[in-house]
Amino acid sequence: MADIAARVGRRLRGLAKFMRGPVRIGRQVSAAPSRTRTLALDLALVGATCALLWAGIGLLLHQQRAYLLRESVQDSDNLVRAFQENTIRTLDAIDRTLLFLRSSYTADPDHFDLATWDRDAQVLDNITLQIGLIDANGLLRASNLGPVREPLDLSDREHFRAQRESAWDALFISKPVLGRGSGRWSVQFTRKILGPGGAFAGVAVVSVDPFSLARFYASLDLGGGSVLLMGLDGIVRTAAPVGAGMLGRDLGASPLLAAARRAPRGLVEMPGELMGAGDGTQIVSFRRLDRYGLVVAVGLDRAEVFASYVRSRAEYGIGGGCLTLLILLVGSSVIARRQALMRTQERLVRSQEVLTDTLENMSQGIFMVDAARRIAVINRRAIELLGLPPGLISAGASFDDLLRWQLRNGEFDNDAAVRRLAESGGIELTDSVYERTRPNGMTLEVRTRVLSSNRAVRTFTDLTERKRAEARISYLAHHDALTGLANRASFQDRLTHAVSVGRRGGTAFAVLCLDLDRFKQVNDTRGHDMGDQLLQAVAERLRASVREGDAVARFGGDEFAILQTDVEQPEAAAALAERLVAHVAEPYAIDGIQVSIGVSVGIALYPADGLTADHLLKSADIALYKAKEDGRGTSCFFEPAMDAALQERYALEQDFRGAVTQDRIDVHFQPICDAQSGRAVAYEALARWTHPDRGPISPQVFVPVAEEAGLVGALGRAVLRKACREAAGWPSDLGLTVNLSPVQLLDTHLAAQVLGILDETGLDPGRLGLEVTEGALIRNGEEALATLRALRRQGVRIYLDDFGTGHAGLSYLLRFPFDCIKIDRSFVGRLATDRAAEAVIRATLLLGESLGIEVVAEGIETGAQRARLVELGCRRLQGYLLGVPARDVAERGAPTDRDGGLETASSRHG
Ligand code: C2E
Ligand code: CA
Ligand code: CA
Repeated sequence: MADIAARVGRRLRGLAKFMRGPVRIGRQVSAAPSRTRTLALDLALVGATCALLWAGIGLLLHQQRAYLLRESVQDSDNLVRAFQENTIRTLDAIDRTLLFLRSSYTADPDHFDLATWDRDAQVLDNITLQIGLIDANGLLRASNLGPVREPLDLSDREHFRAQRESAWDALFISKPVLGRGSGRWSVQFTRKILGPGGAFAGVAVVSVDPFSLARFYASLDLGGGSVLLMGLDGIVRTAAPVGAGMLGRDLGASPLLAAARRAPRGLVEMPGELMGAGDGTQIVSFRRLDRYGLVVAVGLDRAEVFASYVRSRAEYGIGGGCLTLLILLVGSSVIARRQALMRTQERLVRSQEVLTDTLENMSQGIFMVDAARRIAVINRRAIELLGLPPGLISAGASFDDLLRWQLRNGEFDNDAAVRRLAESGGIELTDSVYERTRPNGMTLEVRTRVLSSNRAVRTFTDLTERKRAEARISYLAHHDALTGLANRASFQDRLTHAVSVGRRGGTAFAVLCLDLDRFKQVNDTRGHDMGDQLLQAVAERLRASVREGDAVARFGGDEFAILQTDVEQPEAAAALAERLVAHVAEPYAIDGIQVSIGVSVGIALYPADGLTADHLLKSADIALYKAKEDGRGTSCFFEPAMDAALQERYALEQDFRGAVTQDRIDVHFQPICDAQSGRAVAYEALARWTHPDRGPISPQVFVPVAEEAGLVGALGRAVLRKACREAAGWPSDLGLTVNLSPVQLLDTHLAAQVLGILDETGLDPGRLGLEVTEGALIRNGEEALATLRALRRQGVRIYLDDFGTGHAGLSYLLRFPFDCIKIDRSFVGRLATDRAAEAVIRATLLLGESLGIEVVAEGIETGAQRARLVELGCRRLQGYLLGVPARDVAERGAPTDRDGGLETASSRHG
């Protein structure tokens, strides 16, 4: 416990430090912010930083991309404008050439020489392949390339047919065609020639090298870019840098044409392949040349346009990735550190809570006094145990104030030493343990432990319960739980003490051993509860019968003992014993029932009957035994001779036990005869025991021994079994009677046992008679009668034995339907001399006759007795005269009429 105090003290100091100041335990610590919430917030912050970074990068890239797109559109737009202007200039020039040619020709068709005209005109040298005149029939009549010897028929050519069939005078631009003779690509520009009167007179044609139209652009380094000249018919007129393959191609289905048809200028994206620029996508700017039904387009390679963007994107990606990694690293380490910090804080808070809970819920009170003698920490239990009013001890209260309060309230009144200290104000807090009893009776253990720096922890433990339990245990150890009297152990202590006082010259004293008479019967018939109450009532009377200084004890069961000291002996003991016997015997009213019990008392005196406690108790016990033998309800002083008698009886009991367990009990049979014929009608079974040293022992000696020793049941069963087995072999008209001890009748299993033995031996129950005495019925009451009734219902006959000796008189004859009454042999013996005896016999015979009960006279020893009995009307006779108990019945013939005196004498036993 001291260890706990020290440990708790350490923790308390930590706690006080943690809380910065005096603490009243039990205060709720404010809830710490949730660590998981903080974690979530931190993670969100890191996530947001990363998101912001990437959003910035995304915006930057987007802007760059937009800028690039804008730039490239600008570029291509510039180009396409240039291309447009250039093309218009070229086409205007070509048209002017045609118009000039036509006008030159029509001015004088007969003398017009194209070669000369061409030389003079010097037009479009760099782009034209040929300049020619086609007549109205479609035959090429003149060419600037030389004289036309064999006119070439071009009437099927589109550029001719278009002009011939058109009503308008307009420039016609053909699709690129592959020259039939030259094998070169050309585009024909034509204008119709009108003869006099406006008739169609032919066509002037300028054949242009399509490549030349885009030559300038082909020479430009367009990178992955391209230019294109297309008719609104979708046919490509020229392209650069790749001209071949594109010429004459039909882009009618391209997005470019669709866009050009919708708007005069614009921007489309389309596969580079359509622009003759290979794979990839092209961003194409176009403008329509409405006057000529053409579209110019400039395409830039998208990949090229965005090349720097893609590069930047990669760079930014790497940069952003690195930054993200950095943020994550820094963030996670910050978060981890923060979480660790919070965990530590939580642990601290939790351990503080645990400590608080511990202190608040411990069964001990505790407080800590700091160096300034202030109560820094105190738990609720301490306030409870000390009985402090609420509010007296708040945080930082003075320890001395507490002491003063306790002193004022008489808290130390039960402990002078503590009180003196408190009064002098000098209670020093030192390591100490003491117990004190509060005015309310509570016992407190106060334990103080001084810690370093002059602090002290004081714990209070409520010992009240423990003290009570200890007192209870000690009481139980010295007292009998049922009656509250001293028990054997404490009585022996008292006795031992008395002996030692006596040895030092004290006076004589007496030890009385008491035993209730037939208490077992009350217990068995009225129940243990009643038995217990009776014991308590007896104990009360015993207590009331002794003087103050005498000890009364219960040894268990119905045994009590009294130690009587400081009075004149043996007179005082005799008087006390007499008082006890009388007082205990007075009736008790328990649960409304009147109960009577007697007590027998044995007395031993110091120093005459023993010099030790044990010896005295033994002597008193022997005297008690004697008192019981003397008829109970009496007292008896110890005499040395008793000891020997008791020893002998004890030895006999041991021997008898051996005889029963080793089946050495014999059974003899004595006939019960018919008075008229003299023949045996039944035999009475009588137990016989021959002691190995002492010879035959009378049943009148060993049956009581068996009863005392609890052996009578076994004896009875052995006799019954042997007798029944024997009788089963007799002529079937011969009956058998067996004696039952009163103690046997207490056994509720008796009926079952008897019936079991009958069954086992095969004897007809109707042939068995059981002999019981009046005494047995008086002692056992209803239960015994019930047992007998049960047996009788099975056909067993019930005999009332020794009739006339009991006290119950005739009443039992009326309460139970006996089958037979046996007149006690004492009446028969006195028949000749005692008129009263004869009167009893006569009355019994009359009673039997009127109730229809058979009557047997027993103990007939003389012929005179027999004659008188026959005369009185007795029909059943038993006695030595008619037959002595013998082992065998078979050889016994019909009894003779001789006087049995001699035989009687020789047959006596015991
Ligand atoms: P009891 O039931 O009255 O038995 C008759 C006793 O009288 C027997 O003594 C018997 O030997 C004796 N007796 C018979 N005829 C005469 C006679 O003409 N003159 C004289 N003076 N005595 C005669 P025993 O065998 O010594 O038995 C004594 C008592 O012991 C019995 O008295 C009976 O109460 C008890 N007892 C004997 N055997 C048993 C037994 O097996 N169980 C129980 N419970 N008690 C038994
Ligand atoms: Ca008998
Ligand atoms: Ca008898």
